Amino acid sequence: MAQNPQTAEPSRPGEFDLIADYFAPLASRPGAFGLLDDAACLPARPGTDVVVTKDSLAANVHFLATDPPDLIARKALRVNLSDLAAKGAEPFAYFLSLALPPDWTEAWIADFTRGLREDQEMYGIDLYGGDTLKSPGGLVVSITAVGHLPTGTMVTRLGGRSDDLLFVTGTIGDAALGLKVHTGDPKVAEWHLAASQQAELRDRYLLPRPRVALCEAVRAHASAAMDVSDGLLGDLGKLCRASGLGAVLQSDRVPFSAPVASAIESGGAALDLALDGGDDYEVLLAIPPGRQADFEADAAKVGISTTRIGSLTKFAPGVSVIDAGGETVPMRSRSFEHF
Ligand code: ADP
Ligand code: MG
Repeated sequence: MAQNPQTAEPSRPGEFDLIADYFAPLASRPGAFGLLDDAACLPARPGTDVVVTKDSLAANVHFLATDPPDLIARKALRVNLSDLAAKGAEPFAYFLSLALPPDWTEAWIADFTRGLREDQEMYGIDLYGGDTLKSPGGLVVSITAVGHLPTGTMVTRLGGRSDDLLFVTGTIGDAALGLKVHTGDPKVAEWHLAASQQAELRDRYLLPRPRVALCEAVRAHASAAMDVSDGLLGDLGKLCRASGLGAVLQSDRVPFSAPVASAIESGGAALDLALDGGDDYEVLLAIPPGRQADFEADAAKVGISTTRIGSLTKFAPGVSVIDAGGETVPMRSRSFEHF
């Protein structure tokens, strides 16, 4: 790699060339002004509300600095799309703040922006702006995503009612176990998984599948919803607190993929890890009992599997976990916290 003899830094574009060569091509909508202006101008759509969310990913906290750049980019985008989906919002724009470590390379940026382009095409969204800065402490990717929905229809965490049925999309725990595979944790050996199963779990960690297609069904049927990012048990606790309710979760109903199910069977604390490990990016919903059939049908129509895992209760806030026989299961239940 070419080195600049004065600074011993790799030869690479300056900030403005970086924006012009790599980010402007991702920002082709009129309101983005080719990233040549101070700010973007998002078109207002009559009859809609704008839903905005922001999530940041830091190297060696949310991903490994050595992870493939295109996957880091797509993960950073997708964790935000997951938040929008859980609110029932259709994504259309995003803003990117990129704090680059001292040793960044142009090849890394090229891969990173290729990942963004792939997901822009997949989800029909566009870049409208951002910020680029130097970060001596390591890479931080921060994305703000913008979605819209019909005025007054955003689904909150606060709207749950007692006796609402709790549903979750997809499967739970894959990414939490996948992270252990990814980092080479010795615990993985206790799960006795085939190499292909380990690869499946690792893939779920590296590339979340946000349930964007569910957003209409969320709006149509859910009284409350949130995305599951910090562990199912802890996140359900947050929904309960916001709605002023408790919940009963039936551990035998939680949907697990084949690799997670066999890891749990082999012991090794995989159940705790699956239920509070995080990085699932599934949607947790409270559905009024009368809407169950319509919700399930609408989710099936967009190809998203949903599972009823329990219900909201009026008893004291908090989540109790019961097994198939109705016996209380003691759980570690702790949501991921940075501090
Ligand atoms: P200002 O100093 O006025 O904030 P900048 O020079 O930082 O403007 O940015 C110029 C333009 O480039 C702006 O439109 C900004 O949104 C865009 N921009 C800068 N960095 C990025 C990035 N990482 N991704 C997308 N757009 C960016
Ligand atoms: Mg700026």
